Amino acid sequence: MNETDVVIIGAGHNGLTCAAYLARAGLRVKVVERRNALGGAAVTEEFHPGFRNSVAAYTVSLLNPKIIADLNLAEHGLKIVERRAQNFLPAPDGSYLLTGEGRTLASVARLSEHDAETIVDFSRELEAIADVLRQFVLRAPPNLVAGFGTRALREAFNALGSASILRGLPLARKRDLLDLFTRSAGEMLDERFESDLVKALFGFDAIVGNYASPYAPGSAYVMLHHAFGEVNGKKGVWGHAIGGMGAIGQAMAGAAREHGAEIVVGSGVREVIVEQGRAAGVILDDGTTVRAKYVASGVNPKLLYTRLISAQALPEEFLARMQRWRNASGTFRMNVALSTLPSFDALPGDGDHLTAGIILGPSLGYMDRAWHDARQHGWSREPVIELLIPSTLDDTLAPAGAHVASLFCQHAAPSLPDGRSWDDCREEVADLVIATVDKYAPGFARSVIGRQILSPLDLEREFGLLGGDIFHGALTLNQLFSARPMLGHADYRGPLKGLYHCGSGAHPGGGVTGAPGHNAARVILSDHRALFAGHD
Ligand SMILES: Cc1cc2nc3c(=O)[nH]c(=O)nc-3n(C[C@H](O)[C@H](O)[C@H](O)COP(=O)(O)OP(=O)(O)OC[C@H]3O[C@@H](n4cnc5c(N)ncnc54)[C@H](O)[C@@H]3O)c2cc1C
Repeated sequence: MNETDVVIIGAGHNGLTCAAYLARAGLRVKVVERRNALGGAAVTEEFHPGFRNSVAAYTVSLLNPKIIADLNLAEHGLKIVERRAQNFLPAPDGSYLLTGEGRTLASVARLSEHDAETIVDFSRELEAIADVLRQFVLRAPPNLVAGFGTRALREAFNALGSASILRGLPLARKRDLLDLFTRSAGEMLDERFESDLVKALFGFDAIVGNYASPYAPGSAYVMLHHAFGEVNGKKGVWGHAIGGMGAIGQAMAGAAREHGAEIVVGSGVREVIVEQGRAAGVILDDGTTVRAKYVASGVNPKLLYTRLISAQALPEEFLARMQRWRNASGTFRMNVALSTLPSFDALPGDGDHLTAGIILGPSLGYMDRAWHDARQHGWSREPVIELLIPSTLDDTLAPAGAHVASLFCQHAAPSLPDGRSWDDCREEVADLVIATVDKYAPGFARSVIGRQILSPLDLEREFGLLGGDIFHGALTLNQLFSARPMLGHADYRGPLKGLYHCGSGAHPGGGVTGAPGHNAARVILSDHRALFAGHD
């Protein structure tokens, strides 16, 4: 089929979500993916003989429950289980924090009675604001449009709807909301808590995928962004997709194919065809042309506009802004095959804490230093790491008795100072990451029998994540909501007729949510119906 209604660039989970909704509504859909696998950054692969793991994204919470239900993802094989404990933070002095249902308060109280009282209010505050955010996730943010007309009218109604969500909030919550959008997580946490580990628990979320100090203004929003998810109806909880994150993409692909969508892997897009100011299809790397009424892009917007569309076809000011789109994640990702489970000095032996997200970054000061170090040196010599051992919840990933672990390391510069290449430094940083875990869990290094390394450069080359940006663009106020990816284009429509954004570069941003794909499908369908009203 080289002529279709919609061609979608990229079979990331958002492209697949968009495809499934559009196909379900009766449109002919073709998804073209450059890699030989689908799912984008949510993918499971064998990285060492007999050992499989989620290659990039590794833990699930943000995936929207409406999308799971609408697309019958459970029937298409998706099973998400909760961790038995949420987070485990060991400290070098042997103390630790272990959170999760029925555990958090007692564990915090062992560190600080004051914090045990405060954490209840703070979690409630965060949860109340996360609830507000949830109401915005599956709706296009108000879009700024010039002039009058149907589009302006539609946006005025949208703005009214958004305003009424906010108007319903008590004044105190509005103040919290403003704080969480503008302030630094570090400042807010220092004001409330005294224990380093408690601050680090929240502070870690503020620097995940955010190449910044936890004391950078705006980092509180990144913390909030990681709080709007849920697992099996439990808000704010993180879990594991059996089979790894690839199970999400596979289930979405199943839903899309069930309704007739065609998904082709190993089929990269070289160029978007533009005819008379309208996106009219794509040309693939092998020269094949796919013509379509609508083109939806699931790739990083800067990649789309600076590499896949001719500059002459784009408004000059639009392109200039897109060239300045900020990709800034600074993450270094590894998978390791383990002969045995690690044993932590702070809590030796097996236990539920080994199912948790294990955060090695025991204070905000440590995280702040890590960022400063990375700015100067390219990476932090004392890295902040989240370690997750999904094989403690899922026996499909490793041979019996053996395990796999994801290592997600923050604060590795998107590009290295002094012109050095990540290709020359990746092994050295990988050794450092393993040695760092070994300090908390002696013997860990010896148990590593295979490893996969993804530097920021590898993430860019492998997945098209420019600068290794895990969110397709930093989650800063100037790149969020009505400004994602740009004021005037928050309605999933690009600057060319027939061109749409369905990936994480659109609202509500990165994470395995499915939301940009869902929202873009709604807009494409509405434009399609308007175009063909009276023609059917
Ligand atoms: C290391 C890492 C860890 C993460 N951890 C988590 C986590 O634990 N939990 C979580 O919720 N989120 C996590 N994230 C974020 C989350 O994975 C992403 O935000 C999300 O998966 C992006 O989905 P997407 O569909 O928008 O885009 P992508 O998954 O980036 O999909 C885009 C697709 O487009 C394809 N493509 C690129 N160029 C072309 C082209 N020219 N032609 C055709 N196809 C093309 C790519 O190959 C890719 O498959 C992580 C991301 C990374 C990188």
